[in-house]
Amino acid sequence: MFNRPVRVRFAPSPTGPLHMGGVRTALYNYLFAKKHGGIFLIRIEDTDQARFVPGAQEYIMDALAWCGIVPEEGPGIGGDYGPYVQSERQHMYRAYADELVANDKAYIAFDTSEDLDKMRDQAKQMGMPNWQYNSTTRTSMKNSLTLPSDDVQRRMDANEPYVIRMKMPRNRDIRFEDAIRSWVVVNTNNLDDKVLFKSDGMPTYHLANIVDDHLMEITHVIRGEEWLPSAPLHVMLYEAFGWEAPIFAHLPLLLKPDGNGKLSKRDGDRLGFPVFPTNWISKEDGEVYSGYREKGYFPEAFINMLAFLGWNPGTTQELFSMDELIEAFTLDRVSKAGAKFDPDKTKWFQQQYLRAKPNEELATVLSQLLIEKHELNHLTTICGLMKERATFVEDIITEGSFLLGRPTKYDETTLTKKWKGDASALMTQWQTTLAGLNSFDAAAVEESFKAFITEKSLGIGAVLPLFRLLVTGKGMGPSMFEISEFLGKEECVARIDSGLTAMIELAPNE
Ligand code: GLU
Repeated sequence: MFNRPVRVRFAPSPTGPLHMGGVRTALYNYLFAKKHGGIFLIRIEDTDQARFVPGAQEYIMDALAWCGIVPEEGPGIGGDYGPYVQSERQHMYRAYADELVANDKAYIAFDTSEDLDKMRDQAKQMGMPNWQYNSTTRTSMKNSLTLPSDDVQRRMDANEPYVIRMKMPRNRDIRFEDAIRSWVVVNTNNLDDKVLFKSDGMPTYHLANIVDDHLMEITHVIRGEEWLPSAPLHVMLYEAFGWEAPIFAHLPLLLKPDGNGKLSKRDGDRLGFPVFPTNWISKEDGEVYSGYREKGYFPEAFINMLAFLGWNPGTTQELFSMDELIEAFTLDRVSKAGAKFDPDKTKWFQQQYLRAKPNEELATVLSQLLIEKHELNHLTTICGLMKERATFVEDIITEGSFLLGRPTKYDETTLTKKWKGDASALMTQWQTTLAGLNSFDAAAVEESFKAFITEKSLGIGAVLPLFRLLVTGKGMGPSMFEISEFLGKEECVARIDSGLTAMIELAPNE
């Protein structure tokens, strides 16, 4: 263990939205930092300009904020080790690459992509499909190890494009102890001479990542299993620089629910659950990739679920607040085996959190939802219908509550005064007439109503209040024809049904 304070980082590349596997990596880093009273920082790794996706960085920061994973240092936050975006640190990396070249730990290579393709093709024809630029093949390539030094200088002076490659030693066992996987041993003969610095003047991920982890005094590198194959190179780079390497911890993969393969970005919407924390709208094709936030998950439930994908507390407790997770989390309880994502269990977590929420808090969420569900257009119509009868804005929904939901009470005065004789039979007939209408706008309902009362030789006052009572529960209100149009045929017919049923109890002696 380090005697320096714990500093960990989440280092996403802004190549798209953050997959939930990425959120889990951020979460474990965060929990680990908090547990040890350390620092959790965010670093944006955008050295690969070709894969840069606009909006991705903002998405990542926003998604983490929704999850309650709050970094102490990072872009837009600040800190003593900034800048925290690699493209803003671009000027720093070259000197480190040069240092390695000067110390014979790296070399300059002039091979063009055509040269490399040619070598690959030749090797393939000789029955070796996996040609690599490595400690053996580099001796026959165009680089500063094979070319005379004045030739190297001449090419550089002539601005010939070149890269800087790692000079992997031959036949050495690289060993490091991963906090989750225990000892990892890889022989350098199985590793290639990775490019550290590209011809476009940018470092590769490997160089920038190691330089920044060192400069930012990172003590533990907690990241996804997909980076395990890069770890031996990283260990070699620390050695080449003479720096103390951090402790590595490679997290298990997230698997599809059936356990067959990695959970991919495309799986979610295909299998019916989100794989992203929040909605992502693709700028390329406008496609929406759904997120847990918009599906209605509470961030606490999402985080609780995520914590268990690859870790367990060793007890039967399943519900953990963020503070409890911080308290319980240890890397030695993270498993090596891939973690199967379970959509049903995810819903179960959400249910537990919903049930535990105070009713007042649920009501606040619900009211926002009602506004969204009813849409502004809908509310605009309600305002138009109710305005004449309101003094305060609130009256619009109290007096007009029947526009948002079915009546639960029926006006007693109208009941005693109007619900008499054959009211039930009359309303049943009117319901049948309404059900038969093809057009259901206010004018059509009014026309049909007039025909109905004329045919029955009844006055408006004998029929309209009954209709109003069943549909709205009220004795007065805006035009019944406009209300009918607003509610629609099916709803009007259904309300007459439930109103008639209620009348059996409320007016038994009609
Ligand atoms: N930029 C890498 C990624 O996108 C970070 C890997 C690491 O944590 O070292 O996952």
